[in-house]
Amino acid sequence: FKINMDEMEVLGELGKGNYGSVQKVYHRPTGVMMAMKEIRLELDESKLNGIIMELDILHRAVAKEIVEFYGAFTIESCVYYCMEYMDAGSLDKLTGTGQVVKTAAGEEERDLLVPEPVLRRITAQIVRGLSFLKDELQIMHRDVKPTNVLINTKGEVKLCDFGVSGQLEKSLAKTNIGCQSYMAPERIKGESQNQVSTYTVSSDVWSVGLSIIEIAKGTYPYPPETFANVFAQLTAIVNGPAPTLPKGYSADAHDFVAKCLLKDPNKRPTYAQLLEHPFLKADKDADVDMAGWVASAMERQSQRSSVVPLQEVEV
Ligand code: ADP
Repeated sequence: FKINMDEMEVLGELGKGNYGSVQKVYHRPTGVMMAMKEIRLELDESKLNGIIMELDILHRAVAKEIVEFYGAFTIESCVYYCMEYMDAGSLDKLTGTGQVVKTAAGEEERDLLVPEPVLRRITAQIVRGLSFLKDELQIMHRDVKPTNVLINTKGEVKLCDFGVSGQLEKSLAKTNIGCQSYMAPERIKGESQNQVSTYTVSSDVWSVGLSIIEIAKGTYPYPPETFANVFAQLTAIVNGPAPTLPKGYSADAHDFVAKCLLKDPNKRPTYAQLLEHPFLKADKDADVDMAGWVASAMERQSQRSSVVPLQEVEV
């Protein structure tokens, strides 16, 4: 079936991305709550229709690790993309602290906000989702990062925002000015030499490693000095040592992340190998209270956002 704007009741904004906003909407004919993403593109009608056709493949991306796609339509120069509403939002919002607490020795000192079984389940869902996309749909994700991993209060973890439309990717690339790069070193090098297609599925494996560290730490893994300056950040990714998981996680977890972040893409494990890694194997029959963790993380998040930043307090 086809969906359109007239059937939607807009309930409020869920978030803003690089290209537009995401609204929570109620689809009256089906009674389904959806997330509707608006992507503003300066393209002519035939190109916009091409994008809608390319997005159609998403109807085949049905897996419990993938955010469900309900349909897309255009109005003027905007593409509206409707998907499953994930009521706990993206993982960056849930685990992000925005600050790192340091002791005198400069060591991070913080209880693990994401206990290992939870981190393991999140990682397993990401890797299973990516493996599904590759094996069943022959696509790579191209934009793995914590904002593209969504979670709900049932504790389900799912991927969204993967690259299915060549035309859409091409139109978005021009405006992509993110300040935190999840791109693998070989992709950064390739783009700086204008060879856009020099990367493969193992570049997504790098982004998985970086995302896992960010989810565990609550902050983007490269030091703040470097992410204020795009050039310094890209140089650190290409030439500097790869970041590591914080203390407190097992040797298996550390090893898993280190393998994802090998500089040589040919040495990084495949999805099949990652799923066989001791870190993820332990997830298979594990009984993890994901819903309980989501509830406590949402509680922490709401306490954080009710704290007034220091400089805004009037004296
Ligand atoms: P980005 O461009 O940074 O990937 P998006 O435009 O995809 O960001 O999304 C912006 C924000 O909207 C996300 O960080 C997330 O919090 C929220 N969001 C996106 N999709 C959904 C969804 N399906 N359900 C609930 N919230 C969502």
